[in-house]
Amino acid sequence: MGIRTSNTCDVVLEDCRIPASNLIGEEGKGFPIAMKTLDQARTWMGCVATGIAQRAMDEAIAYGKQRVQFGRPILKNQALKFKIADMAIKIETARQMVAYALTLMDRNLPHTKESAIAKCYASDIAMEVTSDAVQIFGGYGYSREYPVEKLLRDAKIFQIFEGTNEIQRIVIARNTIGRF
Ligand SMILES: Cc1cc2nc3c(=O)[nH]c(=O)nc-3n(C[C@H](O)[C@H](O)[C@H](O)COP(=O)(O)OP(=O)(O)OC[C@H]3O[C@@H](n4cnc5c(N)ncnc54)[C@H](O)[C@@H]3O)c2cc1C
Repeated sequence: MGIRTSNTCDVVLEDCRIPASNLIGEEGKGFPIAMKTLDQARTWMGCVATGIAQRAMDEAIAYGKQRVQFGRPILKNQALKFKIADMAIKIETARQMVAYALTLMDRNLPHTKESAIAKCYASDIAMEVTSDAVQIFGGYGYSREYPVEKLLRDAKIFQIFEGTNEIQRIVIARNTIGRF
């Protein structure tokens, strides 16, 4: 559906013996190591989702300024200006959240909750912003002539991989409420 430049495939390991000297980390600690890796990767996915949303807004602004309907550029309409304002609010909020999670990561501080929020929020708003960008392009937005349909398809996977956004909400709730 999207991220067509990323090659997705199965990795199959059969009858595969790994020498003990190749052990990464401590024996029996694989799951916590994997979870820590996810904490980092989720923040990075938040960066990419924010970037997709930013590009969608940039494209929508450029198009809205030059597309003339009923005698004036469509972006002169307050309804569309408000759509852009909402995009800007969401993108800036996602950027700040991602930056906060990255700062914690750089300082080796715990960031499980913050990285889950960054990934979850940035990917949710990327879907909203790319969908609104398609709307601003009207019928052309639905065609392959312009890039916004691609951005919408690319945004969707960020709600699914590195743990779905339902799983992020489980992580966020657990780190907010405690185990309950
Ligand atoms: C293009 C692409 C690239 C990918 N790249 C990678 C990769 O690099 N590495 C990797 O490991 N995986 C990768 N994945 C796999 C991806 O991480 C999984 O698809 C994802 O974890 C969801 O698992 P699933 O598809 O089995 O969905 P399921 O687990 O079957 O979930 C289906 C739906 O049910 C919901 N659900 C399931 N359990 C619960 C629950 N307990 N509470 C609430 N809701 C729940 C899910 O959130 C989801 O909405 C990739 C997938 C795609 C499509």
